[in-house]
Amino acid sequence: MDTAVDSSVTSCAAPAKGEPYLLTPGPLTTALSTKEAMLRDWGSWDGDFRAMTTQLRRSLLEIAGDTAGNYDCVPLQGSGSYCVEAMLGSLVPRDGHALVLANGAYGKRIATTLGYLGRRHTVLDKGDYLPPRGSEVERMLDADPSITHVVAVHCETSSGILNPIEEIAAATAKKGRKLLIDSMSAFGAVPLDVRHLQCEAFVSSANKCIEGVPGFGFVIARKGALLEAKGRSHSLSLDVYDQWDVMNRTGQWRFTPPTHTVAAFIEALRLHALEGGQAGRLARYAHNRDVLVAGMHELGFEPLLDAHWRSPIIVTFFAPADPAFRFEHFYDLMKQQGFIIYPGKLTVVDSFRVGCIGQVDADVMRRVVVACAQALRTMGVEHAAPPGVALEERQLLAQQV
Ligand SMILES: *Cc1c(COP(=O)(O)O)cnc(C)c1O
Repeated sequence: MDTAVDSSVTSCAAPAKGEPYLLTPGPLTTALSTKEAMLRDWGSWDGDFRAMTTQLRRSLLEIAGDTAGNYDCVPLQGSGSYCVEAMLGSLVPRDGHALVLANGAYGKRIATTLGYLGRRHTVLDKGDYLPPRGSEVERMLDADPSITHVVAVHCETSSGILNPIEEIAAATAKKGRKLLIDSMSAFGAVPLDVRHLQCEAFVSSANKCIEGVPGFGFVIARKGALLEAKGRSHSLSLDVYDQWDVMNRTGQWRFTPPTHTVAAFIEALRLHALEGGQAGRLARYAHNRDVLVAGMHELGFEPLLDAHWRSPIIVTFFAPADPAFRFEHFYDLMKQQGFIIYPGKLTVVDSFRVGCIGQVDADVMRRVVVACAQALRTMGVEHAAPPGVALEERQLLAQQV
């Protein structure tokens, strides 16, 4: 079925009157029908709801490319970080040793979580925006045979860098170690095929590229890894094995499920499939990014990352050098025009971020650029070019990768 001509799919309806577009990497702007799916109550033990849980698990495994039935999907209540913690606590043995590949806030959070869990870990910290490369991973694994697991972030949402996950997966497999992936902000839009990556497990959540509302995440893991996780978790509610086992036996979540969020997610999955699945979603997000970057460039804005590393998820721009620019004021002016943007997370130079995901299309992105131009005029910023030091940073980046 050719769905590309279905205008209800390719163009995104505006949010309700007075509701701004969320140009943030989740929660994000969802479709009206996704919101409407929450307008009824569900009994968590009822067969109808159990069927929804089964459908959700099956659909996610399909998107992950598990045609052989080697993996299973374990949904878990909470935000994405709860699932990352559940995956680490359940899949890294107590005497294991994890190599964390960090280049931003989410990589650092993985290391912090392992610290809470009392799991031995080594961090390869690449700073704010440099990608961890396969060759480095190989060297570190050669140097320390005690490392059992590599933990990688697929898209590091704090800068918007798309990390070279294939390269990292190949290096990890070559050295006979296990790979765990935080694909929170990438899965559903960026290709992630478990057959190809041979990962032990990955996590994502409802409110990112599948475009659901917040409330749960999911661990997709090799069945063998799930079996081995029995009795390992330090936490009852974050025990992935137990959640999996009970769900398989009863069709139910162990504790109160986020019923409305699940109902919304079923609708979000339907829209995802209608749009052409992962490939269709990637095409829209990549086009959003390209329209945004080109328009912002005309105003003088410069993105942090060069095109090779720039994800279709979120783009970091340097703040303009002009002293009349203040982010707080810029943010308010953007909000008045109906767009919620995101502060930056770089440590050296000021920046801000604009998300490309959610129910937004190229037309919305063009309006974002117009709104930016208007905000600059109101602030009296003549040109949006960043300070020289920002461009030097970027030059440094280009030389190091
Ligand atoms: C969103 C996100 C998370 C989870 O964050 P929560 O606030 O707990 O939902 C984890 N990792 C990455 C890369 C993310 O983008």
